[in-house]
Amino acid sequence: MNKNKEFQKRKEMAIAKGQKNLFPIYIDKAVNAEIWDVEGSRYIDLCAGIAVTNVGHNHPKIMNALKGQMNEFTHSCLMINPYKSAIELAEKLNELVPIKYAKTVFLNSGAEAVENAVKIAKAFTKRSSVISFVGSFHGRTHMCLGLTGKFSPYKEGFGPFPSGIYHIPFPIENYNLTTENSLNTLKDLFKSTVKPTEIAAVIIEPVQGEGGFHIAPKKFLQELKEICDDYGILLICDEVQTGFARTGAFFAVEHYGIEPDIITIGKGLANGIPLSAVVGKKEVMDAAESLGGTFGGSPLGCQSALAVIDVINEEDLCNRALKIGKISVDNLKRLQSIYPDRIGSVRNSGAMIAIEFIKDGDFKNPDSEITKKIIDEVSKRGVLLLSCGMDGNIIRLLPPLTIELDLLREGLDIVDEVIVELFSKTI
Ligand code: PLP
Repeated sequence: MNKNKEFQKRKEMAIAKGQKNLFPIYIDKAVNAEIWDVEGSRYIDLCAGIAVTNVGHNHPKIMNALKGQMNEFTHSCLMINPYKSAIELAEKLNELVPIKYAKTVFLNSGAEAVENAVKIAKAFTKRSSVISFVGSFHGRTHMCLGLTGKFSPYKEGFGPFPSGIYHIPFPIENYNLTTENSLNTLKDLFKSTVKPTEIAAVIIEPVQGEGGFHIAPKKFLQELKEICDDYGILLICDEVQTGFARTGAFFAVEHYGIEPDIITIGKGLANGIPLSAVVGKKEVMDAAESLGGTFGGSPLGCQSALAVIDVINEEDLCNRALKIGKISVDNLKRLQSIYPDRIGSVRNSGAMIAIEFIKDGDFKNPDSEITKKIIDEVSKRGVLLLSCGMDGNIIRLLPPLTIELDLLREGLDIVDEVIVELFSKTI
């Protein structure tokens, strides 16, 4: 039996079934945007561990920061004996977010950041309900699953979820869901179901991640913010996936010219060392009496995140994200022009790049089967990709922002080749 198969067998015996793995490819080592498995095969990484290794695997600056911290201490608990790196990181995040006077709290995961953002919003507004969006994904704890707008597989068998959560449609032009549709549903909700004065917050991903890389229209987010302000509702931007240079800015909400009340950050913040944060308006953040946790803002996480911020600035990774997006989209649009009935849309926000597969030119007819086949076949030829979307019919590209452009082109060529081949077999 080969090593990957052997590990997969052991994994299935030892790790709960629910913690699934997309590829039975066991990683041995990784450098920047390349991964080698335990059998010595090399892969081009267009996943970045789901938008985490934004500055690449094993970036020397991150590794040095981690080694330096490991020589000093690895834990004291920020709530017992604090340390300078946490203050420095909070100061930097407070400066980076598009919020005038901000404060930060550190946690471990994206889900924990979302949980805490909601707790803070409830404490500040003294209100109990929250609005989120159909197709959203906010994490796997009970509150986060309640907020998440996709039932299967995340919510299956885990209910009931906290009460006081309402979902409204996310505007998606291709699905005939306009800004007006979405905002009218919100206004109807206020008339029919819940008073706006009971709503603590609206939580939104400026670009839906797991939901399919749908980009919120500028007008929509601006009008949503106005409605929130009219009723004293806080706007939480969940930037766990969109944050940290991924969309061509440190935070996707910067493209919208609005000032959110709270931003959640995770994933790419520390490039793989578990760390998340909630950053929000000073007065909002200080409304909550008790926040934190044993590991929140770990010294390794803080040092790594400080190095990540330096790398993003020094290597101009916001602009690099735009360049990666352009190269990928130009390439994929060429393919779309050949198969307009099968590739419904190629879209991107910086280096969040999506290809949507449909049947007969109809967005109501998602082609999840071909999506899965493409991902499987592409992985056999040495490129790692993920799917997303309510129907699993969207391929998402999330390469490290430091990927060598030749390597990106090599990966795109393989994707191209596989799509053409599989399409020609399934006309
Ligand atoms: N919020 C968004 C937008 C996400 O994409 C995710 C994870 O994919 C989460 C929250 C949850 O993050 P974590 O898996 O670190 O708990």
